[in-house]
Amino acid sequence: MSIITLETAKETQQFGSHISVQLWCTYLRSRDGLSIPISFVPHGFASAVVNHGRWIVRCPLCTPGAMLASRKEPLFWCPNCGMAANNERPMHVIFPNEADVIDDLLSRRPDPHTRHWEPTESIDMLLHENRANGVI
Ligand SMILES: [Zn+2]
Repeated sequence: MSIITLETAKETQQFGSHISVQLWCTYLRSRDGLSIPISFVPHGFASAVVNHGRWIVRCPLCTPGAMLASRKEPLFWCPNCGMAANNERPMHVIFPNEADVIDDLLSRRPDPHTRHWEPTESIDMLLHENRANGVI
């Protein structure tokens, strides 16, 4: 696996510091005057995508919110909107069944900024893009 996840970003200190949903919520809870999640019981689903070589989750509830995805803790909680429209509850993160294959195909691309995947893209589409750009 070389597409960056929350876990590998922590290991390599890439893309700044990132924390898990649980730690983030604990941090917010400790601050004064902020609305905080009342429950860690997830509700709803959000899809993981690959963006510039990172597995991320874009917030389905607001435009700018996104976080690195975790395969060990597949939960999403948006620090931008506080999941207000989801009763402040996190969402389950859905990784594709072919996540390892997607990771492998994208990792063959030498430039991490060309490593993208959206749920509408098939494995065949990624293979075609790789071949069209001389990536085997
Ligand atoms: Zn949000």
